[in-house]
Amino acid sequence: MLIDNKSIAIVGGGPAGLTLARLLQLKGANVKVYERDFNKNARVQGSPLDMHEDSGLAAIRKAELMEEFKKAFRPGADRTLIMNEKAEIFFNDHETKPEEDFGHENFRPEIDRGPLRNMLLESLDPETVVWDSHFLSMERKGEGWLLHFKNGNSVYADLVVASDGANSKIRPYLTDSKPIYSGIIMLEGNISKENAPQIDALIKGGKIMAFGNSQNILMGQKGNGDLGFYASFKADEHWPATCGLDFSDTAQMLKWFKTEYPEWSPIWEELFENAKTPFIPRLIYSMPLDQTWETLPNLTLIGDAAHVMPPFAGEGANMAMLDALELSEYLTDENCKTLQEAISVYEHHMRKRAATATQESLENGERMHSETSLATMLDFFNSHLD
Ligand SMILES: Cc1cc2nc3c(=O)[nH]c(=O)nc-3n(C[C@H](O)[C@H](O)[C@H](O)COP(=O)(O)OP(=O)(O)OC[C@H]3O[C@@H](n4cnc5c(N)ncnc54)[C@H](O)[C@@H]3O)c2cc1C
Repeated sequence: MLIDNKSIAIVGGGPAGLTLARLLQLKGANVKVYERDFNKNARVQGSPLDMHEDSGLAAIRKAELMEEFKKAFRPGADRTLIMNEKAEIFFNDHETKPEEDFGHENFRPEIDRGPLRNMLLESLDPETVVWDSHFLSMERKGEGWLLHFKNGNSVYADLVVASDGANSKIRPYLTDSKPIYSGIIMLEGNISKENAPQIDALIKGGKIMAFGNSQNILMGQKGNGDLGFYASFKADEHWPATCGLDFSDTAQMLKWFKTEYPEWSPIWEELFENAKTPFIPRLIYSMPLDQTWETLPNLTLIGDAAHVMPPFAGEGANMAMLDALELSEYLTDENCKTLQEAISVYEHHMRKRAATATQESLENGERMHSETSLATMLDFFNSHLD
């Protein structure tokens, strides 16, 4: 096998890196994951992730973790209400959608990011993840790379796989491609369900998508009952610095919401009144659709490091895990004669697939922030009913 006797350094322990580590360990590879979080108890932030049949779930199946996934996912969390700014309901599949429907192409089970990470971590050999390893730089050494970390450690690896997310520090060793700002900011907030009783009564463990005035509010309920929500809108890339808001001050944030979302029903205000702070402004980026680079024999990219994309098609984590699946297959494929050939075939397929998903995500982002967003999203959801 091409990776026999090779040391593989995966930098970044998100969905992409941990899935790759698991898949390669199943094939007997010598793998370490270098992760900047101090330990496994670091809080994993962000919305729940929906896993898709041909990508995220395919990787989980190949990783022999389907039974664990079925214990960790959140039945019914994919049920959705689509509403308008006045909090009128236009779509509701709570009564019709089964809690689970594994194997159906349209079934997209939701899992919180923390349980997904734990499931992957527990599947790895002990000591696979080297915590508190914030990658700073690397240099060529022999056939491979010498990596340097903020904690002062340096390690050698024959093959480096960058899975260090959207702001990858390793990407520049391979390509000049840079993420492009989409023009959309998702302002993330969290609130316990006790503090948002009206919304809690509506959401019932699922998701709400509300559209009005080219703005929207998207939210999902997490396993602990908290509501994770995003006020999503178009704004300048410098908005977080220039808006003058203190994201830790709920009174200011409520005032901002009332001013910026004037047509929105007071029901939505409870999200802002007692939110846990700080709010986090998440600027949405994507990589160029036509990016390319010269393949190296000892370095490649997976996940957001390769192709960060807007979240409006729910593809980011799914593509990240499919990257892990495909790379692990090519690195252990008897038909590939060299590591460079294996990486080249992976990168060729990955870039093409990621460009398609990115294009779809960008188009959905435009639709979801257009004047006709409600009608467009209703058409989409109604056409996927079966
Ligand atoms: C608001 C929002 C909503 C989203 N919703 C969805 C959704 O519903 N479905 C979906 O599929 N995707 C969604 N995504 C996208 C998804 O979050 C990402 O595509 C996915 O997390 C990518 O996984 P990754 O492993 O490549 O990167 P990440 O999840 O970003 O993981 C990167 C890891 O690398 C570590 N790291 C970073 N820098 C370093 C360093 N220098 N040294 C060492 N370690 C480092 C980080 O700590 C982290 O653990 C959403 C994204 C956003 C912003």
